[in-house]
Amino acid sequence: MSLELVHTIAETRARIAEARRQGRTIEFVPTMGALHEGHGSLMDRARRLRGFLVVSIFVNPIQFDRADDYERYPRTLEADLEFCQARGVDLVFAPPIEEMYPQPQRAFVEVTGLTEHLCGRFRPGHFRGVTTVVAKLFGIVQPDRAYFGEKDAQQLAVVRRMVQDLNLPVEIVACPTVREADGLAMSSRNRRLSPEQRRAAPAIYRALQAAAAQVAAGRRDPAEVRRAALAVLESEPLLRTEYFEIVDPGEIQPVAEIEREVLIACAVWAGTTRLIDSVRARPPVSL
Ligand code: AMP
Repeated sequence: MSLELVHTIAETRARIAEARRQGRTIEFVPTMGALHEGHGSLMDRARRLRGFLVVSIFVNPIQFDRADDYERYPRTLEADLEFCQARGVDLVFAPPIEEMYPQPQRAFVEVTGLTEHLCGRFRPGHFRGVTTVVAKLFGIVQPDRAYFGEKDAQQLAVVRRMVQDLNLPVEIVACPTVREADGLAMSSRNRRLSPEQRRAAPAIYRALQAAAAQVAAGRRDPAEVRRAALAVLESEPLLRTEYFEIVDPGEIQPVAEIEREVLIACAVWAGTTRLIDSVRARPPVSL
């Protein structure tokens, strides 16, 4: 089967209805394009079930808190279509803005609590934009399953919670973070890094690993774990840490003491490019 590209909601619905009539399940990977192996891993995972594989490519304006970030976000539709074709995608839904937002958006979906910390603290309105567009896309595609990357750990927790609390009939499948050989998490924004910034960026993952090692060794004080990690980040003058936090992976709230599995997450600036990454870590089992 070859790839089909559609730009309208009506056509997307028609193609999906046809696939359903043929008895296929609908597997859905939402993206903002500028596709890389991280997205590819979601597609590979989704394809395992042999359903009808839908990928959306839409740079969603309402989730950007800074106009320059939205304008500079990489857009590479031609290459993305080739990527999807090679990955066995059945349908790419790439709507223009007017198709998604034909009138001022007055209905929003907001997940509270989980959006107070980490990126939610520094990007006002970001998660409201994400959950609103994901809810719209779910309404359009009506997938059986939707695939999200653990790289955006807070986003994954927020989308999961939206689906649970609103009883949406879709299963959320989490996929592990795909990294470059030197540990840098793959991201569409990596292509904006200068060669020097690119060389500095793997310190982000090294810092997360240093923190995870402290947790695994039994350190319970988040402030101490954080200090060890920040020392790694501060050794790189081209990087500026926005946040580095240790939170509960479900509720995304800071923990006072590390007693069970935690999410260690950070946002780091390299020049005008903001990179995020995270890992999970577990304290040793005490006897
Ligand atoms: P984006 O296009 O950046 O909005 O990402 C679309 C989906 O791909 C989200 O669910 C991301 O979490 C996921 N994703 C992005 N980068 C990676 C990565 N390096 N590894 C795994 N998943 C990723």
